[in-house]
Amino acid sequence: MEIKTEQFTELAKKELKNDRQRLFLKLIPPVMRMKREAGFGTLPDAPAAMACGAAIRAEAMARLPELLEEFEKNATANGMKVVWTRDDKEANEFIRNLAKEKGIQYVTKGKSMVTEETALNEVLEEHGIEVWETDLGEFIAQQLHRTPFHIVGPAINVPVEEVRDLFIEKIGLKEPTLDPVQLGYAARLFLRDKFHHVKMGITGVNMAVAETGTIINVENEGNIRFTKASPPIQVSVMSLEKVIPTMKDALHLVRLLCRSCTGQRLSVYVSMDSGPKKKDEIDGPEELYIVIVDNGRSKIYQDVKAREVLRCIRCGACLAGCPVWRQIGGYAYGWAYSGPMGQVLNPVLLGLDKTQELYRASTLCGACKSICPVGIDHPSLFLYYRSKDVLEDPIFKSKDRPWAERQFFRIWSFAASAPWLWNLGVRMARPFINKDARDGIISKTIGPSAGWFRKRDLPSMAGFTFHDRWKKMQNTESRGQKSE
Ligand code: SF4
Repeated sequence: MEIKTEQFTELAKKELKNDRQRLFLKLIPPVMRMKREAGFGTLPDAPAAMACGAAIRAEAMARLPELLEEFEKNATANGMKVVWTRDDKEANEFIRNLAKEKGIQYVTKGKSMVTEETALNEVLEEHGIEVWETDLGEFIAQQLHRTPFHIVGPAINVPVEEVRDLFIEKIGLKEPTLDPVQLGYAARLFLRDKFHHVKMGITGVNMAVAETGTIINVENEGNIRFTKASPPIQVSVMSLEKVIPTMKDALHLVRLLCRSCTGQRLSVYVSMDSGPKKKDEIDGPEELYIVIVDNGRSKIYQDVKAREVLRCIRCGACLAGCPVWRQIGGYAYGWAYSGPMGQVLNPVLLGLDKTQELYRASTLCGACKSICPVGIDHPSLFLYYRSKDVLEDPIFKSKDRPWAERQFFRIWSFAASAPWLWNLGVRMARPFINKDARDGIISKTIGPSAGWFRKRDLPSMAGFTFHDRWKKMQNTESRGQKSE
């Protein structure tokens, strides 16, 4: 997958011209938010449940190295094979070599954001191994060669007519229909056949429980279960932050995750795997590999503020809450992760230099923070990344801001630290700024700040500053005292 995060502004402009998508983005996110609110309404104390979720994830991140070792120990004791990989290349290479060694011709896949991140599908296909995404949304996105539009609904935006035409072309849909149920059925029949003969299944991991060495997957379609139960080899890929201390903690997070994703109290399937098939068991894989992917996470782990990003449980709630995502959708972010969670995660994975436009594309309204079930403070992270940029931090791979912007802020900081200069500047700027005011409000202007006023108003600058007024009041008072 080509990473296009540096083209965010261009892509966003393009998406804004897509009228059908704009209409979709007006209608669907409010429904998602309503469902989420209804789901959280079934909890006796939703804010307390979210605070508990935040505490669990904060503890997991504080103890991450120790919990990962505990998970490895228990998972290995359960018969799983734990594989550590430093980056996307190592993770993909391991899976590709394993597939080659076992003579695999095709794999079925359950939904996995980390393999979107590592571009595993492309690597396997380059080496002649077919990949079949089996989540309906992922299947559609894969056939259309698109990145996920939303982390929970990867093809939620694709019009039904487009799905019909796609299925006619790719899976030989015999009776063209616009009925979503029939289209889903057609995909199901097509994929069911793949499950019959599959030798290797690849899935993601929602949570990895350190205490028991168990991996948990949450889904509604049952395709992950098929991917795990049908083939003799199962490969579950997880980014290293997915570890949770105890099963009790994990179950609490499952309650939050399901409600945040789709408003359900519990998704249709919650699968827990604690090892490969045992002698007396009917299904399940004979070999179970857990591939743990670092891909830049441990590098930022030392930074206590940036580490907060790793709490994310990929519920997707912040996307529908975000006023920016609701205008442009998911494609403009140019990679696997979009919306506020992508805006905080992509910079630590790709570097600030490749994502500068992402963490600046925010109104800092805090809608994402208020909705996040694990307490991620997105706006403060956006500001943190911006400060890292200015401080030219090498760990975050910061990049210089444009020359004009740097000079502007240099002059600004010099003026702001010299009161006489500041006052002089205010006096000189006032007539210039107020020239566009109508009835005390500036609604539009020309020049470099014209874009800022396109959607905003600003009160005109007062005729005198607080200091002027204070001085005037004191003068009047002292004149009054003298005349007495
Ligand atoms: S940042 Fe929070 S709200 Fe957004 S996807 Fe992650 S857990 Fe969900």
